[in-house]
Amino acid sequence: MPRPISARIHLDAVRQNLQLVKRLAPSSRVWSVIKANAYGHGIERIYPALAEADGIALLDLDEAVRVRELGWEKPILLLEGIFEPADVETADRHRLTVTVHCDEQLALLKTSRPRERIDIQLKMNSGMNRLGFRPGEFEAAWERASGIEAVGSIGLMSHFANADDGAIDWQTDEFDVATRNLPGTRSLSNSAAVLWHPRAHRDWVRPGTILYGASPTGRARDIEGFALRAAMTLESRIIGVQTLAPNETIGYGRTFTADRAMRIGVVACGYADGYPRHAPTGTPVMIDGVRTRIVGRVSMDMLTVDLTPCPAAGIGSSVELWGEHVRVDEVAEPSGTIGYELVCALARRVPVSIDAGVTNEPEAHSA
Ligand SMILES: *Cc1c(COP(=O)(O)O)cnc(C)c1O
Repeated sequence: MPRPISARIHLDAVRQNLQLVKRLAPSSRVWSVIKANAYGHGIERIYPALAEADGIALLDLDEAVRVRELGWEKPILLLEGIFEPADVETADRHRLTVTVHCDEQLALLKTSRPRERIDIQLKMNSGMNRLGFRPGEFEAAWERASGIEAVGSIGLMSHFANADDGAIDWQTDEFDVATRNLPGTRSLSNSAAVLWHPRAHRDWVRPGTILYGASPTGRARDIEGFALRAAMTLESRIIGVQTLAPNETIGYGRTFTADRAMRIGVVACGYADGYPRHAPTGTPVMIDGVRTRIVGRVSMDMLTVDLTPCPAAGIGSSVELWGEHVRVDEVAEPSGTIGYELVCALARRVPVSIDAGVTNEPEAHSA
């Protein structure tokens, strides 16, 4: 028998999160962002839940080809565009939309002879200072792009630096001024802007993390008002129980000292499974449906939990590390990171299953 740890991917949660995006941005089309192997959830696993999306956005050409091979007919956007001449051929063969953020990428398109024109998203650096043409040079970049034989339609896009803190106007204004004379669709909004900044929704939104039910700010409380459901549950079992006397310590570094007699559960989950080693004493966890806390240091294959609130728990008790009841952000925040990082870093050794959920699709032949 394998170790009892496993992850479950909830397709209904992704479907519902996508529906929420569409309700929040009813006039926009949706690029579902599934980079990094669908934020660690697995592209092939998540794929059936994306049917209602208008497009799929990711970074890796191999991932884009995988999505086409799954049968996706709608647009696929490469968020970082192409890297070398052979990529133009791949984009052509699989009808990929490519982001163009620099002149080197325009040069690659200029020297290429694709069978069909390649649709691009011309990217503006409106203040993030990562990728894109500066506002002052954007119109000229658009002119150069539109003069290239291989270029099809030109969409206009940019990315926010701190939509999660509420500040988007400075970038949106830059974008609007610099694109006022240009035709084409607009795309600005990541998850945070989908939730909090309708002004930026425009023609296409680009949600990632909220499709998986994690908070764009890294704080679970910020998404409490939205019906976002966790797409991943990481669960395990208790494999050992210790009863500590007052003043005894637990685990490496002896970072936790019992102040009274207490029962401790040992859970088959450690940092080699993707649980953060920086999770401090007090990080929430659920045992047999009861919320409690981890105590002491997380080790490679195990962590320890306080069984005081769940006296009936023992070996074999079920443990939710994160998921429906304990949001991944509640584990991430005290660990100094964000839910994005934890789900992306789920370890390969954790077996993953798919919870297809209850589908409400109407019967095809109901008379
Ligand atoms: C990752 C990414 C997104 C999605 O960001 P979330 O915060 O996960 O919604 C959108 N646009 C671009 C360009 C990205 O790289």
